[in-house]
Amino acid sequence: MKDTYRHKGLRKKLVDTLRKKGISNEHVLTAIGQLPRHFFLDKAFEEWAYTDKAFPIGNEQTISQPFTVAYQTELLDPQPREKILEVGTGSGYQAAILALLGARVYTIERQELLFKQASKMLTQLSLGNVRCYYRDGYKGLPEFMPFDKIIVTAGAKKVPEALLEQLRIGGILVIPVGKEVQSMLKITRTGEKEYRQEIKGDFKFVPFVKGLNKEE
Ligand code: SAH
Repeated sequence: MKDTYRHKGLRKKLVDTLRKKGISNEHVLTAIGQLPRHFFLDKAFEEWAYTDKAFPIGNEQTISQPFTVAYQTELLDPQPREKILEVGTGSGYQAAILALLGARVYTIERQELLFKQASKMLTQLSLGNVRCYYRDGYKGLPEFMPFDKIIVTAGAKKVPEALLEQLRIGGILVIPVGKEVQSMLKITRTGEKEYRQEIKGDFKFVPFVKGLNKEE
């Protein structure tokens, strides 16, 4: 895995593009400027790794568009040492961004193959504070609750109850909800049984699916 001056230059341009599209959190932009996205993609897509597009990563899944990663991360506003659960590890790119921001990241994936690939990549990058699990996001990760923040990177039909329960009071859940197109929801837990919901822009995600998928 090589990260050349050319890659670094392309990353700088990507950061400029994201800034123009409205991303303003400097910590988020710095993390995107640091992390080699081409490490998380198939060699065939290396040329396009720094365009603002989603790409296939196998098992009919995709690495999210950089704008989407930046947008969700900005809504989550991760702080150093915060305990964050990500549902939908995919390539591991979003998890790596959260780790670069200093969060303690727990990421879960229902596709065994992607779980294995992403765990390997995240270990190689020695980002230390990321742990990967092969789990169903509908159930969350109860043994490590409560989380300061939770981010879902697949399109859900409704908000899973378990995720609401695993959020600490004052915590934030960012989740895209909808069938064909998803609205980004930012949900803040304001009390034991109280939640406040804000509706943000529209996005298109791969579906949030129940149950685990074993490697063939
Ligand atoms: N965050 C990823 C984006 C991956 S796409 C990245 O940065 O690359 C969404 C991922 O969510 C897919 O890999 C899909 O398999 C996974 N997913 C869908 N439903 C899930 C569920 N119930 N539990 C865990 N992961 C799920």
